[in-house]
Amino acid sequence: MQFFSSETIFSENHPITHPILDKAGISLVIKREDQIHSEVSGNKFRKLKYNLIEAKKQGFTTILTFGGAYSNHIAATAAAGKMVGLQTIGIIRGDELAKDLEKTLSENDTLKFASSSGMHFKFITREAYRDKTSTAFIEQLRDEFGEFYVIPEGGTNALAIKGCEEILTDTDVGYDVICCAVGTGGTIAGIVNSTHEHQKVLGFPALKGDFLFEEIRKYTVKTNWDLVQEYHFGGYGKINQEGVAFINTFKDQQHIALDPVYTGKMIFGIFDMAQNGVFPKNTRILAVHTGGLQGIDGMNKKLKKKRLPLITI
Ligand SMILES: *Cc1c(COP(=O)(O)O)cnc(C)c1O
Repeated sequence: MQFFSSETIFSENHPITHPILDKAGISLVIKREDQIHSEVSGNKFRKLKYNLIEAKKQGFTTILTFGGAYSNHIAATAAAGKMVGLQTIGIIRGDELAKDLEKTLSENDTLKFASSSGMHFKFITREAYRDKTSTAFIEQLRDEFGEFYVIPEGGTNALAIKGCEEILTDTDVGYDVICCAVGTGGTIAGIVNSTHEHQKVLGFPALKGDFLFEEIRKYTVKTNWDLVQEYHFGGYGKINQEGVAFINTFKDQQHIALDPVYTGKMIFGIFDMAQNGVFPKNTRILAVHTGGLQGIDGMNKKLKKKRLPLITI
C-alpha cells in the first residue's frame, strides 16, 4: 500500500526557546507529527495506518466511521481512504446538517474537505449518535451500505494504539517527560507503551471527566503516566480569549501553529506549569504536536459568531 508503505515515518524534533522555559531551567522540544502528512496529519495518520492495512487485507472495499461535524478524524479518514483506494462512509452527529447539505458544506470546511475526498455522509440525531455502537444500529447500517470495516469514533482501537507506538523512536530516549493531548486516550496509550522506564508521560485532556483514566488503562499496562486535568478550557471544543491569544503569540514567536481543540491547550498547560515551578530544573520535555490544524477554521467560525478575537492562520 503506497501511502503507508514506509514502515518508519519520522517527524522532526523542534527545540523551543522562550524566557519562561529559561527561567524554569527546563527544555522543551516539539515533535512535529503535524508535519508527517499534509492531509492526514499527526496522530490520525498513526491511528489509521494499521487499520487501513487490515481493512485491505481482509478484502474490504469500504470503511465506516463516526464523528462530529468538525472532527479531525473524519477529515483524516476521508483523505486516507481516498489515497489507499477505500471508500469511506462518515456517520456524522447532527441530523440538522442534512437539511441543506449544500449550505452545510459551504459553511463547514471539515465536511467540505471530507466530501471532496469522496466520503459519503449519513447524518444522525444526537440521540441516535449516542447509541451508534449498538449491534442493532450497525446492522441497520449494513443493510443500508453493505459490508464495511468499522473504525470507532476518534479512531481508537488496538490497531490504532499499535500505530501510535511508532510516534516515539529510539532517539527520544533522552527526554524525561513526554506530553501529549488526549481525546479518547488512544494516542497517549501508544506513546506510553513505547516509553522507557525512566520516562513519564503527561496527558492533557481536551475535555472534562475522570473516565479517561479507565479508557487509557484498557490499552496500556504501564503506569508511568498521568493526566493533567486543569487545562481543558471548559470542555471539548471550547476555548477562551486567553487561549486564543496564547496560540496566536506562540505562532508569532515560534512559527508553529497550534490547534485550539488539542495542542494549543497542551502547550498552554506546559508553559503554565513551567511558570508555576511544577517541573524540576533540567527536566527535558518532549511535547507531541498531534496536528489537528484543519480544525482552526471551524473554531474561528464559532469565535466570529461570538465576536471574539480569531486564531490567526
Ligand atoms: C484526535 C486528536 C487528539 C486526541 O487523540 P486521542 O487518541 O483520541 O486521545 C489529539 N490531538 C489532535 C490534534 C487530534 O486530532
